[in-house]
Amino acid sequence: MSLLRHPATAPVALRLSRDLVRTIKRGHPWVYAEALRQLPPAPAGTSAILLDHRKGQEIARGLYDPKSPLALRICSTDGKPLDDRWAERRLTRALALRERFIRSDTTGYRLAHGEGDGLPGLAIDRYDRVLVQKFDGPGPEGFWNAEELAGWLRDQTGVDAVVGRRRERSAAARVLAGEMRSPVVPFLENGMRFTADVVAGQKTGFFLDQRDNRDFLRGLVRGQSVLNLFSYTGGFSIAAGVGGASQVTSVDLAAPAVKAAEDHWALNELPAGAHEAVAADAFEYLEKVRMEKRRWDVVVVDPPSFAPSQESVTRATSAYQKLFSAAIRVTANGGLLAAASCSSHISEAHFIGVCEEAVSDARRQGRVITVRSQPSDHPWPLALPEFRYLKFVVLQLS
Ligand code: SAH
Repeated sequence: MSLLRHPATAPVALRLSRDLVRTIKRGHPWVYAEALRQLPPAPAGTSAILLDHRKGQEIARGLYDPKSPLALRICSTDGKPLDDRWAERRLTRALALRERFIRSDTTGYRLAHGEGDGLPGLAIDRYDRVLVQKFDGPGPEGFWNAEELAGWLRDQTGVDAVVGRRRERSAAARVLAGEMRSPVVPFLENGMRFTADVVAGQKTGFFLDQRDNRDFLRGLVRGQSVLNLFSYTGGFSIAAGVGGASQVTSVDLAAPAVKAAEDHWALNELPAGAHEAVAADAFEYLEKVRMEKRRWDVVVVDPPSFAPSQESVTRATSAYQKLFSAAIRVTANGGLLAAASCSSHISEAHFIGVCEEAVSDARRQGRVITVRSQPSDHPWPLALPEFRYLKFVVLQLS
């Protein structure tokens, strides 16, 4: 059995319709359907050879999905076949990279970050004894042999179980290798205790991409009150508590996430009376606390992506602006606002502009303390800057 479903012996040939050779040779891993001369019928995830538009010479190999606008994800440009040796080389490189910087007090981290690790469409997260494997749609799903991959990963890492999650949130999770004692898996992040519900939780159970930003926040909240909006299971709240915040409020629409935030607070042995967990719509909550004239020293706003596509950027821009300006209105004079966006369609420069408008709307002024992004276990291809999707801006407001 192979790690890949489609043997490299019968790749589909695809021809570019325009000159993208330089871009692809520089490492850009995506070819959209409109840049291909034809879209021959084939099952999603079939191996393909990409030929240039002039002479028809091979320039890359990748995984093909004729039904997706992102028709070809490039896997290699060295002319070698896409086989188990290719897969093992890439997976081993991704695993070895994490060993170089993940410290022993962090057992929850991303082992493979898709295109950022040269493994298009494949994400693998580790929660200590359990791995979660997730494919970004039918192309990657058809390309990889999920069970074989899970078995290989389990052998390499020695975990108890490997769970498969689908991109669609409604799709059921499956144990692909090993045995899982409970879907709620404990792990450490910079010494803090958390759990991830790897079956029912959002993403693969936790927002691992905010790890470094939580650590940064932890260092600047001693003695401060902190409002954590869109808290999910309380990642930033626990970091604030451990960092010595005097009082922390967590707000999320999802009641199970709010409950988990409370559990995580207790799990870290933080003072019982100092955490307020609220299951509410963040927009309505902000309206309510503004009327009550409540203020916090530090406000964290980490909403879900408002811009799922390029077309939605204008609408998203004004939604972020409104939200941040409402958050600024409940931030104390001299206090801090930490504003995040996980939308790949909004650039860092654009996002800083959004923050500037929000501050101005609230009739305040701001100083930028730091502009941050995703941690090292979420690498991005130099040729694909959109893959650096996370923005995290901390402002001091006067
Ligand atoms: N900061 C979190 C991740 C936030 S993800 C962490 O570090 O783990 C975005 C969260 O926003 C999700 O938990 C989702 O349930 C929540 N959410 C979505 N819409 C919301 C709304 N209108 N009001 C409050 N929370 C909302």
